[in-house]
Amino acid sequence: MQTIAGLSLLEWQQKHRLLNNLIQLDEVFWINPDYGTELDDTIVQYNQVNSAKNRLDRFANYIVEAFPETRPMQGIIESPLVEIPSMQKNMEKSYDVQLPGKLLLKCDSHLPISGSIKARGGIYEVLKRAEDIAMKHGGLKQTDDYGILASDTYKKLFSTYSIAVGSTGNLGLSIGIISAKLGFRVTVHMSGDAKQWKKDKLTNLGVVVKEYNDDYSRAVEEGRLEASLDPNCHFIDDEDSIDLFLGYATAAERLQNQLRERSVVVDKDHPLFVYLPCGVGGGPGGITYGLKLAFGEHVHCFFAEPTHSPCMTIGLLTGLHDEASVQEFGIDNKTEADGLAVGRPSRLVSRLMTSMLSGSYTIEDKRLFELLRKMAETEGYYLEPSALAGANGPVQLMSHPTGRKYLEDQKLLDKMNQSTHIIWATGGSMVPKDMMEQYLSQS
Ligand SMILES: *Cc1c(COP(=O)(O)O)cnc(C)c1O
Repeated sequence: MQTIAGLSLLEWQQKHRLLNNLIQLDEVFWINPDYGTELDDTIVQYNQVNSAKNRLDRFANYIVEAFPETRPMQGIIESPLVEIPSMQKNMEKSYDVQLPGKLLLKCDSHLPISGSIKARGGIYEVLKRAEDIAMKHGGLKQTDDYGILASDTYKKLFSTYSIAVGSTGNLGLSIGIISAKLGFRVTVHMSGDAKQWKKDKLTNLGVVVKEYNDDYSRAVEEGRLEASLDPNCHFIDDEDSIDLFLGYATAAERLQNQLRERSVVVDKDHPLFVYLPCGVGGGPGGITYGLKLAFGEHVHCFFAEPTHSPCMTIGLLTGLHDEASVQEFGIDNKTEADGLAVGRPSRLVSRLMTSMLSGSYTIEDKRLFELLRKMAETEGYYLEPSALAGANGPVQLMSHPTGRKYLEDQKLLDKMNQSTHIIWATGGSMVPKDMMEQYLSQS
């Protein structure tokens, strides 16, 4: 008989009732019973986030040189934080729920350079690699103006090295753009879900795109294998990279500053809720890690996954982490939310989230498109389907019995009028117009 980590599917279902709903592709809301337990602090050290931040600051002059559109932000790749009161009212009305507190949208959809959350982790890891090489073989010092890295001398140096990555689309886009700009040779291994326009864009930049008629795990596996044969090739491992994770984590301190600028208080009487779309987990996991450093128990983070790809929810619920894929539970990992079409979570992130994540929920594709249209019509933000997964978070938290129970257990029910909710919009500004029109017509 087929078993999953030693138990039959039926035994797993008996052990965790929620698995039945996940297997039936129901929308579920899950609260993490291990939330707030002791963190395994051997995996990542807090001060690593700070050195990642310092590294990005060192690169600011290079970023301005290479991407002049970032000059107004002095080469710091950051996104706006905006209020979305019309969307808030619209959701209250359509879903017949009260959403007290302030509702904000974190527009990573509009991050410069690659228009998605991957402009954080992905770009960071490539920059770190470039710095390592430039210091070892090009005489770069930390105190130099990193603008010099845009010179032909350094480009020539980088062209003797290569970068490889496996991706469902956006990570490849972000790694491809920054690597090609620095002068690296770069290969992107794309899963079958990846959208054609993303592949075309990369091909036009001279990036080698390899396509697989299979899901994300396969693209990563092939990429890892191919890269291992070339000692000058650095493989960016979305399933297990601490550097990617740290790049994402730097978002938190910047968000803290943005909240301060808006006079938004986060403390024991003013809870902060953050809803993050989750694929393999690096992006939302890194950001959650950073937010916990910044706000401790006053921030409550929830992950959102498609009903067809609930890999992190299953990994955490069963404690199997990366040891099982959704396919082994009979779930097909087929979703229009291409950024979230991942069947097996990151081992690193899944372990770290065991004590940090408040919970997670799943969302149907149909609802992603509905929220996509609502966000465009009420607030004028045009996002890709994956980026809407977070938008259902406040609705779930306030209307689902399990959500209410969480608020009660955390003694937050009477503080919701002073609460702040952030929907993390993870991508969309680079979606071609005709594709966006197609998205808008799907609900
Ligand atoms: C990659 C991606 C995510 C999720 O990030 P992971 O690190 O894969 O969990 C969410 N939304 C969009 C648009 C993405 O591209």
